[in-house]
Amino acid sequence: MAASGIAPWLKQRRHTTPGSCDFWFLPLGGCGEIGANLNLYGTDGQWLMVDCGIGFERDQVGQRVFYPDASFIEARREELVGLVITHAHEDHVGAVAYLWPKLRCPVYTTAFTAEVLKRKLAEQGLLDSVPLYIVGRDAQLDIGPFAVTWVGVNHSTPESQGLLIETALGRVFHSGDWKFDGRPVLDPVYNQDHFAALSQQPVDFLVCDSTNATVEGRSHTEGELYKGLKKIVQAAEGRVVVTCFGSNIGRLHTLVKVARACGRYPALLGRSLERFHAAARLADVWPADMALVPPGHLGYLPEKEVFAIVTGSQGEKGAVMSRLARGSHRAFDVGAGDTVIFSSRVIPGNENEVENLVRLLQLKGVNVVQEHDSELPIHASGHPAREELRAMYDCVQPEVLIPVHGEPQHLEAQAALGREHGIPKGLQGRNGDLFTLYPYPGIRRGAIPVGRIYRPD
Ligand SMILES: [Zn+2]
Ligand SMILES: [Zn+2]
Repeated sequence: MAASGIAPWLKQRRHTTPGSCDFWFLPLGGCGEIGANLNLYGTDGQWLMVDCGIGFERDQVGQRVFYPDASFIEARREELVGLVITHAHEDHVGAVAYLWPKLRCPVYTTAFTAEVLKRKLAEQGLLDSVPLYIVGRDAQLDIGPFAVTWVGVNHSTPESQGLLIETALGRVFHSGDWKFDGRPVLDPVYNQDHFAALSQQPVDFLVCDSTNATVEGRSHTEGELYKGLKKIVQAAEGRVVVTCFGSNIGRLHTLVKVARACGRYPALLGRSLERFHAAARLADVWPADMALVPPGHLGYLPEKEVFAIVTGSQGEKGAVMSRLARGSHRAFDVGAGDTVIFSSRVIPGNENEVENLVRLLQLKGVNVVQEHDSELPIHASGHPAREELRAMYDCVQPEVLIPVHGEPQHLEAQAALGREHGIPKGLQGRNGDLFTLYPYPGIRRGAIPVGRIYRPD
C-alpha cells in the first residue's frame, strides 16, 4: 500500500496501540468462521501473532482460497515481535508465505510444522529470507514482552501446541487445536494431569478451540481406529484404497500397520500425501522401518496385496481418489470387488462432491465404506467435544473464557458451556473485535477493519 493511500484508521494509533497498562487480544481471522486463523496479542506497544492460515470459500464457480486481511499489523510491523505457529494445518500455517513479506518478523514453530512451512516458503522464493526458529516440546521463550511456554496437545497432526502466554499484566492459555486423546498414535498422552501444572498459578484467560462445541461426549481416540480399519481390510477380497487427510501422520502410521497385518503393501499416492510424508521423515516422525512401496508397483501386485493410501477424501477433482473413480489414474484402476475406505469426515460444503464421488465408485461396483457405514470407528476428530472442553476448564480454571476457532454457532455453544460450567466470565467476539484483557476485560466491537484476501489461482 502506498504511503499516501494509508487508510485514516491505520494512522490513529492512540486507540489501536496497547500501552504499558494494556493487554489485548485481537483476532483478525478464524473467529466467527472456519479457517484462516490469525490472532494477535498486544501489550506495551508490541504485538505477538499466533497462527497465520488460509480458508476455503465455496461459491457457484468453485472453491476459492482466502487469507485474512492483515493491513492492521502490516501497517505497524515494527511493533510485531514474532509469529508463533501452533501446528501444521493449512488454517494455521497456510498464509505465512503470502503475508510474511509484509510482516518480516521471526517465525517460531516445532520441527514438523517447520518442514511443512519450509516447502511453502521455498515455493515463494522466501526460504532464505524468513528467520525460522524451531522450538522443542514444552519450550519456554521470551518474545518481546511475551513469555511463551509451548504446551503439547493432542490433535490430528504431529507436535501440535497450546501456548501459555504470560505478560506482566496477565496469563493466557491459547489452546490451539486440541483434544484429550487417551490413546494417541504419535504424540504423548496429554491429559488433565499434564495441564494441572497450568492451574498451579491462576490462568486468567482461556482462548479455546470451539470446532466441536456442539458435539456431546468425547472425540474418538486415534489409537482405537486400528481395530475398525483392520476389520474392513481383513474382509476385503480385491484391492484396498483408503483416503484420509495427509497431514494426519498418526493415521498414516495406523494404515501402514493395518496393511502389513493384512499381508498388503502400502503406497502413498497424491502430491499432498507425498509432501506430508517427506516432512514427517525430515522431522523424525516417520520411522525408517515403516517402508512403503513406490506407487508404480501397485499395478503389478496381485489385487489382494494392494493397499493404496490416496488424496481426495473431499471429492477434489484433481486428486487421486477422483481420478481412480473416473478411471484416469496411470498407477492402477479400481472396479468390482475392490474396497474404498473413507477414513475421514466430509467437511461442510463438500457434501455434493463426496456424494458424487461415492456414486461414481459404486457404479463401478466398488465397495465403499464411509464413517457411518462402519460399526467400529474409522475416523477420529482432532477437536474436543463437550466433555473434553469441560475437562479443560477444570484443569485450567480460567477467570475468563474466550471461544475462538469456529462459526458463530460454535462460539456461542462454547460460551454457553463455559457459563454452565461456572467460569466467572465469558467474552464472545468476532474478527476485528478488540478484546481488552487488562485493565478491564471487555470488547471494543469492530475496532479494527477486517476482510478476506483471495489468492489468485
Ligand atoms: Zn488443526
Ligand atoms: Zn484449525
